Amino acid sequence: MPAFPHIPVQRRSSRSARTGVVDVVVIGGGVVGAAAAWQLAGRDRDVVLLDQLETGRVRGVPYGSAEIYRQTYSSARYVRLAAEALPLWREVEAQTGAALLQITGGVDHGDPRGTRVLAESLAKHGIAHEWLDPDEASARWPGMVFSGPVLYQPDRTGRIHAGQAVAALTAAAVAHGAVVKRSTPATAIAVRGDDLVEVATPRGPVRARRAVVAVGARTAELLDGLVELPRLRVTQEQPTNFPLWGGAGSFPARQVAWPTFVHHVAPEDGWPGSVHGTATAEGCVKLGFRGVGPEMHPDRPSFAPDPAQLRRLQEYVAAFLPGLDHRVPQPLGCTRTSTPDERFVLDTAGPLVVGAGFSSHGFAFAPALGRVLADLSTGAMDRAPAAAAR
Ligand SMILES: Cc1cc2nc3c(=O)[nH]c(=O)nc-3n(C[C@H](O)[C@H](O)[C@H](O)COP(=O)(O)OP(=O)(O)OC[C@H]3O[C@@H](n4cnc5c(N)ncnc54)[C@H](O)[C@@H]3O)c2cc1C
Repeated sequence: MPAFPHIPVQRRSSRSARTGVVDVVVIGGGVVGAAAAWQLAGRDRDVVLLDQLETGRVRGVPYGSAEIYRQTYSSARYVRLAAEALPLWREVEAQTGAALLQITGGVDHGDPRGTRVLAESLAKHGIAHEWLDPDEASARWPGMVFSGPVLYQPDRTGRIHAGQAVAALTAAAVAHGAVVKRSTPATAIAVRGDDLVEVATPRGPVRARRAVVAVGARTAELLDGLVELPRLRVTQEQPTNFPLWGGAGSFPARQVAWPTFVHHVAPEDGWPGSVHGTATAEGCVKLGFRGVGPEMHPDRPSFAPDPAQLRRLQEYVAAFLPGLDHRVPQPLGCTRTSTPDERFVLDTAGPLVVGAGFSSHGFAFAPALGRVLADLSTGAMDRAPAAAAR
């Protein structure tokens, strides 16, 4: 892993070398698959991680530097999962020396009922927060305009450097002995028994006792006929970078003044959906309407900017984010995979373990999702009969 050459790599005397069957094959080396491989290899399992692409790319486009991390959820399950992820992100940072998660503080504003529910949830979980009136908030963050009460969460909201994060999780998995095979798409999966899965790839089959499938938009296609899944809807979204007025020259000082934010607006307020944003490491703020893009075929993302959506984003920036230059949007491409009720798919079917449907916020949870997928794999494995194929 060239990004982290200093990390000592554990060379395991591999059981798989004798049997030709690894403990777990993880299919998909995005953030969730890399996190699962890290967790599994840390538990002394033989792990092979496959990805169809080369290092450093996700969803067919380069990784960015800013994915939102927050614990501000109304659902206790998400609060707990996000809270679990925070120390795990710190553990990956400690193992790799990479700075991955920067706390920026976060604001939620808009829909008064929705933000009140979020504040109640923060209170219930003992998470620091305060209400600011709009003028106070605009004085604190002069790049933003607020039209109602603002919920501020100071210490458990921030942004994750996505590219570094996937590279670091992968490097940490390798350091624990995982084997990573890039440019190696899984073309088919065959379940050969309770403890044997065969994954076809153009470089030959990989045989394993368990397969963790974390292939994002490709999940339904790869698991067709093997696992009953909720409908996974794949849409093409359009997060967009907007540069700070005045350019990146004075960026470090101004970056601090940008909180991560969610503006809870909806079509009845005149906007397509809620707006989520955070400052990037490159002197921009990345923002987008959440989950409003058209459905697409996973094989055929165009990532061509949608002029209508881009114009609405520019209008939004002009109205609410005067600290940004709305005239020069830099559109980014991104696919979103979600279930009808937006719940994550974390499930098993025989020796198959599935992690999918992480909609617009899976990145932040990734190390905790990796832990869940590792539990599902190894729990099932530990219950398996002694005659297991190994
Ligand atoms: C517009 C937008 C903004 C977002 N913002 C945030 C945010 O601010 N914070 C946040 O937490 N989350 C955010 N998300 C969500 C987050 O990006 C996803 O939840 C997360 O990337 C899902 O990770 P994954 O590993 O499951 O899937 P992916 O990142 O899609 O990775 C899947 C991997 O599987 C590989 N693959 C696919 N098919 C095969 C195959 N057949 N064989 C081998 N490999 C294969 C792919 O190459 C890829 O590397 C956002 C999403 C969108 C669309």
